[in-house]
Amino acid sequence: MLKKLKAALGFDIKAEAYAYGHDPEYGYLSAQKVPERWVKTTCGYCSVGCGMVVGVREGKIVSVHGDQDHPVNRGTLCPKGLSEHQTVASPNRAQVPLLRNRSGVLERVPWEHAYRAMVAGVREVQARHGLESFAVLSTGQLVTEEFYALGKLVQLGFHTPNYDGNTTLCMSSAVAGYKQSFGSDGPPGSYLGLQTAEVVFLIGANIADNHPVLWHHLNQNENRTLIVCDPRKTKTAMLADIYLPIRPRGDIDLLNGLIHLVIEHGYARREFIDAHTRGFAELEAHCRAYPLEVVAARTGLPPKLIWDAFQTIARAEKVFFAWTMGINHSTQGTDAVSLINTLALITGNIGRTGAAPMSITGQCNAMGSREFSFTSSMPGYRKFEKQEDRRELAGLWGIGAQQLPSRRGLAYPDIVDAILEGKIRALWVIATNPVLSFPDQARLQEALGRLDLLVVQDGFHPTATTELADLVLPAAIWGEKEGSYTNSERRASRVRAAVPPPGEAKPDFEIFLDLARYLGVGDHLFPGWRGPEDAFAEIRRVSAGRLCDYSGMSYAQMEAQGGIQWPCDEQHPQGCDSLYAAGIFPTEDGRAHLLFASAEKGPEEVDRIYPLLLNTGRTVEHWHTGTKTRGVPILAKLAPEAWVEINPQTARRYAIGPHDRVSLISARGRVDGLLVRISETIGPEQVFVPFHFAEQCVNKLTLPAFDPKSREPNYKQCAVRLERYRQPLP
Ligand code: SF4
Repeated sequence: MLKKLKAALGFDIKAEAYAYGHDPEYGYLSAQKVPERWVKTTCGYCSVGCGMVVGVREGKIVSVHGDQDHPVNRGTLCPKGLSEHQTVASPNRAQVPLLRNRSGVLERVPWEHAYRAMVAGVREVQARHGLESFAVLSTGQLVTEEFYALGKLVQLGFHTPNYDGNTTLCMSSAVAGYKQSFGSDGPPGSYLGLQTAEVVFLIGANIADNHPVLWHHLNQNENRTLIVCDPRKTKTAMLADIYLPIRPRGDIDLLNGLIHLVIEHGYARREFIDAHTRGFAELEAHCRAYPLEVVAARTGLPPKLIWDAFQTIARAEKVFFAWTMGINHSTQGTDAVSLINTLALITGNIGRTGAAPMSITGQCNAMGSREFSFTSSMPGYRKFEKQEDRRELAGLWGIGAQQLPSRRGLAYPDIVDAILEGKIRALWVIATNPVLSFPDQARLQEALGRLDLLVVQDGFHPTATTELADLVLPAAIWGEKEGSYTNSERRASRVRAAVPPPGEAKPDFEIFLDLARYLGVGDHLFPGWRGPEDAFAEIRRVSAGRLCDYSGMSYAQMEAQGGIQWPCDEQHPQGCDSLYAAGIFPTEDGRAHLLFASAEKGPEEVDRIYPLLLNTGRTVEHWHTGTKTRGVPILAKLAPEAWVEINPQTARRYAIGPHDRVSLISARGRVDGLLVRISETIGPEQVFVPFHFAEQCVNKLTLPAFDPKSREPNYKQCAVRLERYRQPLP
């Protein structure tokens, strides 16, 4: 019996129980987990940004605990955070540079050889096809200092503007929506809003699964009313006071309807609107077309529910609006974000603690990428197209303004299109795994196959993407490098190295500086830099006076305070929990724009051949494409494979029982052997599949349809059919 249990758990329960030791802070621990020292750092998974302490023993990370003093999580962690130390020791860590030889095999080469091969390969492609034939796809996983160094290297060293990140796949609609409404990116609220608002309205956000520690913030708010709007009755929806089971793509109609009710019934805060916004008359006229009965018919929501939600929002003094991928992952994501901002503005919910619209981002440092990576804007939220911004940045860097690009380069999906058109011939992929995460996999893989040069820099190998690379550069991951992450509420927290990276792997920061040296631009781009702190010093200087002002921050203060929320300057030496308190916005006239939009048809509708609508998303146990989490034994045991959620009515229609296996087929591909979960969490015309699993890669089914403003993919709805699956598992 004990043997069986040991095999199932992956460790010897008896040995663990009796061989314990004592740590003065954390009490009794199994002997192997009593650390020689503790290192404070920040979780490297999601954008909640939990503080943690990492235990190190004999040069290895042996345990992780939540940091009791950290304001974000007060000692708590979710299952991924609690087992994060196991990612470092994962058997699939990339440890040496690998170059594909003439026989097509990846073989070990020294770093010098790898750098020379990359620089020569990129230069050759650029000499033949132009500077813009080289593109870069990065991530939300690097530290901010690395994003900053990489942006300079790509734009000013390799001289290509075609640089984007996988962050476009999850939150570029939030960025574009903020820019439309407020004139700049930057989440106006903070997590304190979850604790202090009278009403919390979560739309397209399943925080119980995807940002679990935020649930603790909500739980501390005993007097709040929670409204959840989601087509799936998620764990978050089950805990709501008012649950709006909206039809997929009903968000724009609902938001228009709520705005109409607010205006029609006299709840619009006219004093604030007149003083601080523009576009009210046009908004009012537009929303007249959304009376309650029309909105109810289009969204599938009972009128009483819409009315209750409206009354609850309109009568409250403080409403906190938060959303995630349910809003962003749509061809109309940007406009839906702007409508949320508009609803917040006309109800006066901006600029106060507990009263704000706020996107909850995905990755641990998606925000650092937004602020300083030089992809969709220049460092410090400076606009490419604004001459004044180019001049100012060039002055700070001591270069000519003409050296800075005056337009942004291609976004992620457009880079893929340009590869297919033969315009981009070399690609550098950093800490992301597009061969699982990008929609319409067949098309993406065709694109990668056409490249003259594919360089992949990652902490893991093999992954689906490194296996296709011509050159693999092994990188350090969380726990092995220094710098900072900025979470969804603009809080910059310290990231510390507890152990060195394995084998010959190096921190990404070091790789970028080395490459600059081989390119011959090291002294020009990074004069005197020795480590991330030098980049941070420049970030402080470059961001001074900007909305995302880091000028008052220091590493020491970040550590003492448990992170600092920007803007942090002379006026706000401790940071700031809300933006726009004075009602002045970074637009030309200082006013926020009351934007509106009408719902458009989805990019793909169900029909006789493909009668079900597929929704994709995440589960609490895994992270993105599973590169980090599927090698962690406890997480792999909790969620070993993908599944499909099917409503009982649909199951009866297809004569399918629990634990049967099925195939899903779309116009683009098929996924076989999905385990059936019959559940009323999902409506009868819909199915849901999590996207973390390589064996059952749901992105073989999804659509290459993108928001025209943000270029974010429409992952949430595509038409599929379901078939029973009887063969052995793929
Ligand atoms: Fe890490 Fe996010 Fe979990 Fe916190 S909630 S422990 S940041 S994955």
